[in-house]
Amino acid sequence: MTNQQNDFTEWYIDTIQKADLMDYTPVRGCIAFKPDGYEIWEHIQDEMNRRFKETGHRNAYFPMLIPESFFQKEKDHIEGFSPELPWVTEVAGEKLEERLALRPTSETMIGHLYADWINSYRDLPVLINQWANVFRWEKKTLPFIRTSEFLWQEGHTAHVDEDEARAETMQMLTIYKEVVEELLAIPVYDGQKTPSERFAGAVDTFSIEAMMKDGKAVQAGTSHYLGTKFAEAFDIKYLTKENKHQFVHTTSWGTSTRLIGSVIMVHGDEQGLVLPPRVAPTQVVLIPVGPWKKNPAIMENLDKLFAELKAKGIRVRLDDSDRSPGYKFNEWEQKGVPVRVELGPRDLENSQALIKARDWDEKVAVDLPSSVDTIVDELQTMQTRLLEKARIFRDKHSHTHVDSLEQLTQHIATSTENGDIPGWILAGWCGDDACEEHVKEVTKFTTRNIPFNPPTTKSTCINCGKESKHTVWFARAY
Ligand SMILES: [Zn+2]
Repeated sequence: MTNQQNDFTEWYIDTIQKADLMDYTPVRGCIAFKPDGYEIWEHIQDEMNRRFKETGHRNAYFPMLIPESFFQKEKDHIEGFSPELPWVTEVAGEKLEERLALRPTSETMIGHLYADWINSYRDLPVLINQWANVFRWEKKTLPFIRTSEFLWQEGHTAHVDEDEARAETMQMLTIYKEVVEELLAIPVYDGQKTPSERFAGAVDTFSIEAMMKDGKAVQAGTSHYLGTKFAEAFDIKYLTKENKHQFVHTTSWGTSTRLIGSVIMVHGDEQGLVLPPRVAPTQVVLIPVGPWKKNPAIMENLDKLFAELKAKGIRVRLDDSDRSPGYKFNEWEQKGVPVRVELGPRDLENSQALIKARDWDEKVAVDLPSSVDTIVDELQTMQTRLLEKARIFRDKHSHTHVDSLEQLTQHIATSTENGDIPGWILAGWCGDDACEEHVKEVTKFTTRNIPFNPPTTKSTCINCGKESKHTVWFARAY
């Protein structure tokens, strides 16, 4: 394993390969999700679907190919996405009359259809989500975090007015925050994106931002209020109760398989992957130790424990392969399995088992007859503990003492000298794009979001020193 502190990217790649989460393919930037990687995504999907449906949304599916003319209808949208679009230009040797893009997102196709589906106020709201793959051809890729094809969900809703659409935008951002914190044990800052970081075609973009262990930020989810921009571009009108034609107000919101990369980068340690129990494909692994083959009572007890855990809905594996216990410990540790249980002849004599949580240094002896409850409890405790650990780490590296570009440069230099990471800084911003751009040029720190609940507020712009309009998180980002 590469040392996490020395080369975080190499550590990350080692970690996902040792954990067998993905594989590279001959298509640059496109990865294969192996079962353990894909199952993390399935647990995210299950929880998201539960919350989406609870709030009245339903899933649907739209085509992957989008006619070029659709993109021309919303100017900001085509400008934002055109550099990353792959095109289908011919079929069976014959050139197509109109090029088709592999979707980077589905606002245009859905806008086209909603124009047909929505006629009266009785048809509203439309609350639809799609689980799909999308394409954004990337020059620099990193598995799960930035790939040319990725999996995501995109919600697309249409409403009678701005108030309702804005309430939807915030509702979905809150759902994202709760899922990422509660399921993935990743604390996030929620807030509004600055205009330069807005989604192409949105009126307002909101995001949740997470800090990785190298101090860089990942935008973990976004929710957009699109106003009537797409409704005007695609002529999505409805008849009001007063018999007037009006444009609908739309929203869109998305999270992607980047979340898998974030889990790895937030919780992983020098031994590799650490998974929060709620998303771990295997939550508990049972391993017989010592001369267990000569002692049938060991496997009998492990089989019983296996059945009891399974009955409680725990995702449990029993590793009775002929490899050495040391090999197995290492392998399951690298797979990030939250809890390991060992049982050998001496343990059995003492009516105990040894358990080790993935993030503990030592194993502890637990009473064998009540071990099922102890294990179930520990899975819950570990879930909470990982969130708390991540929160402590994030808070420690969220700095509020930087008020000028000079101080930021100094802060970065001092952190590097001390072998520490610069983390994030909370600073004032006057609202001028040029100030934002200059900070980025000099330090590679970009605006993450304008947090709803900043730990403190700042009165002057970090770049020009004039009065600030906003207090903003700045960080280097993936
Ligand atoms: Zn300024």
